[in-house]
Amino acid sequence: MVEIERHDYDVIVIGAGGAGLRAAIETRMRGLRTAVVCKSLFGKAHTVMAEGGIAASMGNVNSRDDWQVHYRDTMRGGKFLNNWRMAELHAKEAPQRVWELETYGALFDRTGDGRISQRNFGGHEYPRLAHVGDRTGLELIRTLQQKIVSLQQDDYTEHGDYEARLRVFAECTVTELLLDSGRIAGAFGYWRENGRFIRLHAPVVVLATGGIGKSFKVTSNSWEYTGDGHALALRAGASLINMEFVQFHPTGMVYPPSVKGILVTESVRGDGGVLRDCEGRRFMFDYIPEVFKDSYADSEQEADRWYSDPDSNRRPPELLPRDEVARAINNEVKEGRGTPHGGVYLDVASRLSTEEIKRRLPSMHHQFRELADVDITAEKMEVGPTCHYVMGGVEVDPDTAASRVPGLFAAGEVAGGMHGSNRLGGNSLSDLLVFGRRAGLGAQEYLQQLGANRPEASQSDVDAAARRALAPFDAGESATAENAYTLHAELQQVMNDLVGIIRREDEIRSALELLADLKRRAGDLAVLEGNRQFNPGWHLALDMANMLLVSECVAKAAVRRTESRGGHTRDDHPEMDPTWRRTLLTCSWRQDEIEVTDQEQTPIREDLLGLFELEELRKYFTEDELAGLRDGSP
Ligand code: FAD
Repeated sequence: MVEIERHDYDVIVIGAGGAGLRAAIETRMRGLRTAVVCKSLFGKAHTVMAEGGIAASMGNVNSRDDWQVHYRDTMRGGKFLNNWRMAELHAKEAPQRVWELETYGALFDRTGDGRISQRNFGGHEYPRLAHVGDRTGLELIRTLQQKIVSLQQDDYTEHGDYEARLRVFAECTVTELLLDSGRIAGAFGYWRENGRFIRLHAPVVVLATGGIGKSFKVTSNSWEYTGDGHALALRAGASLINMEFVQFHPTGMVYPPSVKGILVTESVRGDGGVLRDCEGRRFMFDYIPEVFKDSYADSEQEADRWYSDPDSNRRPPELLPRDEVARAINNEVKEGRGTPHGGVYLDVASRLSTEEIKRRLPSMHHQFRELADVDITAEKMEVGPTCHYVMGGVEVDPDTAASRVPGLFAAGEVAGGMHGSNRLGGNSLSDLLVFGRRAGLGAQEYLQQLGANRPEASQSDVDAAARRALAPFDAGESATAENAYTLHAELQQVMNDLVGIIRREDEIRSALELLADLKRRAGDLAVLEGNRQFNPGWHLALDMANMLLVSECVAKAAVRRTESRGGHTRDDHPEMDPTWRRTLLTCSWRQDEIEVTDQEQTPIREDLLGLFELEELRKYFTEDELAGLRDGSP
């Protein structure tokens, strides 16, 4: 029998990005013994890569901003498919979470009178993103880590042990959740460095594993985003919602090929940058959709005036929500007006002074100089859409972040619902803090109800998890042995080409056939070289099952939703259909197959509906739904 180390906790948080760390801070502050497990180095999560900022209606730059305006923007951005309660909690609590970060030691950029500065971003009516240059995520993670360290120092003072109540297991990958009669009992995984197995026992698991971008070929996401949390939740019996909605950020680098997909922050446009076709034309004026016509400028003059006088002018169309801008760029390239490398131009050089660019966008300046030999203070950037974020995720209770599985919670990008069909920039960092904290509170409440009646994972389940993790070593001798790198490249190509930014039924159906074949071949995945000591080939072989499962969810939900909305564009069903707004698609795991079912949306609470004009609601709701609402304001 293989040797497996064992640890016991109250709560296991899987993921050390913003959501995981905020959840862990909450559980530890409430006295719960907490383990944080992350497959990357501590401090290296997607959160650290976040550039533009964190959205919160503090009203520092425009005092008209408040939670109601933020709520409206979020619902519009998500095309009213959002879980309205999550959007409400998020808009109300985001400012408190940002101020709280300051008390933990975060240093944001300031306004002239010393308040936290806030910048413009797509889809946000007022300047709303608190930021630290274009390195906001770095400051957020640094601050949360500092808070963790200070809690550990408290524990040392009290117990003589820094890790008495909070320990970080870094470079440790969880491969399975352990259950006892359908309730969470712990997690099983391996240390990446030496391949040794580890079992963590606890009645609560908080998933905070981030997204799924590595299933697509062109992506801003790094190696960790293999949909592990999504797959772990499915296999444990939880459901995923909104998996058809994948966000393609409009501006990723397109050249040189080695850096294709790396993000070019939306702050470039928020701070004045504009998109141009190969002849220098600002093409976004041609792409303002009907639902946004009243709020966006229809001439360059008005758009440019908006930067200095936002109250009397409408916003530039470069700041439409991401799904609209990504589709517009895609169309420009398709119609032959793109750049030599298949993107469009993003021009900040002719809009801001060299000094301003270096001050506001230091990372972008550095990134283009180092990776593409382009000086963005003098030349235009070439950009195109890149897979960036998944709106779909674990279906959770909005107030507690609890999933359907007792003891399983989810927060951050791995959770679904908050952003509806499309996330606004900046709304992820605030989501992590609001719902990371709520997951911590939910965990405490669950533990209180559980009392001494704690579930216990069986030895046979642990042994089975170990056998499954070792299976790729046994397959090495087989004549049908498959290489994980080959399979991964094939999967990324399929998802990019057939379930990407623009979709059609026949293409998604071919993708489903190809995915079924890849899944069959994944049964023969083999470690062809090396042993359990740091072996990326083995790690990828284990990640493949997760990527295949979430890709199946995306494709199956995408073929079923016969409309276009947010991050789901169907060429064969180009319109948004109000009857679909009432329907959420739910994915469950049934005997190794994904089953997609329709689920009716809970009607939006009346006082929240009352925040919108009836005329606006007509663009999204069916006549039946509106029938109950009186003329004028609902
Ligand atoms: P992450 O920060 O990704 O953390 C996931 C954690 O889970 C990691 O620690 C990882 O190691 C761990 N993990 C995963 N699987 C396992 C496993 N099997 N076992 C153990 N550990 C595991 N959003 C904004 O709001 N504003 C921005 O300006 C912004 N800029 C962005 C820029 C870039 C380049 C990118 C890629 C994203 C950006 N986003 C932005 C989105 C935002 O950063 C992410 O959505 C968010 O950080 C996700 O946080 P998280 O806590 O959910 O997950």
